[in-house]
Amino acid sequence: MRHVLLLGGTTEASALASLLAQGGIAATLSYAGRTENPRAQPVPVQIGGFGGVAGLVDYLREHRVTHLVDATHPFAAKMSAHAAAAAHQAGVPLLALTRPAWQPTADDRWTHASSIEASAAALAGAPRRILLALGRMHVDAFAAQPQHHYLLRFVDAPHTPPRLPHYSLVVDRGPFSVEGDRALMQEHGIDLVVSKNAGGKGAEAKLIAARQLGLPVLMIDRPAMPARLEVHRPEDVLAWLDHGSVPGAERGV
Ligand code: NAP
Repeated sequence: MRHVLLLGGTTEASALASLLAQGGIAATLSYAGRTENPRAQPVPVQIGGFGGVAGLVDYLREHRVTHLVDATHPFAAKMSAHAAAAAHQAGVPLLALTRPAWQPTADDRWTHASSIEASAAALAGAPRRILLALGRMHVDAFAAQPQHHYLLRFVDAPHTPPRLPHYSLVVDRGPFSVEGDRALMQEHGIDLVVSKNAGGKGAEAKLIAARQLGLPVLMIDRPAMPARLEVHRPEDVLAWLDHGSVPGAERGV
């Protein structure tokens, strides 16, 4: 019998969990446990890490996982590296469900940084009002540039305040609209947006709003991922489960 382990924490993983449940395919959805109230899911959920590569190998064997699907966020590089290594060691086929990266249009004013730390270093200079659209675990890196006022938007209210001298905080898990993000940026006098290149529709509104307002964006490029088979649509995962291959799937590096 098939048993899919789906590494989640993304909208795409939730969409795939629904498809698997509808198709009667046994699946477990796994969360790191970063969000306090993850949304209800139609498949069993396991919360918390596995304990590195060795822990994941044990999990795959103990739970007789037949297929591993990595639908984590494009910046969850550690989990993706662990997934590739553990799948190899346990002999379990791996497929990644990913989102294409955002691409700038002719009207965008993007500069690029190679990591969160590099983006913070790139902010040296006069004080600015910055929308830091990053998630709370990355915000402390910006304490290195305390001269700016940061607008933060988190899914949950933080238990400990961010280590930034000047900030405003909005707690909201979206979905976000272009109109709403444009109004937010105007209300807070934002003059720069810092964003990870997450891709997908859910978080794109802020980039369109920045484009419409003529604001510059400091785009943090994606970390490197292990070589693995990748698809972009949840339906393609079903094809892979049925046939073991997907026409047109990319082998990422
Ligand atoms: P990470 O740095 O790649 O992973 C750190 C550790 O967290 C992993 O080694 C693993 O612990 C555990 N982990 C991560 N994803 C897991 C999952 N789906 N199920 C079980 N354990 C998981 O990951 P991260 O960047 O902290 O992201 C954590 C989660 O948040 C991911 O699931 C990701 O999809 C989601 N997310 C991340 C971002 C982002 O910008 N990074 C944005 C939105 C959502 P063990 O080694 O103990 O197994």
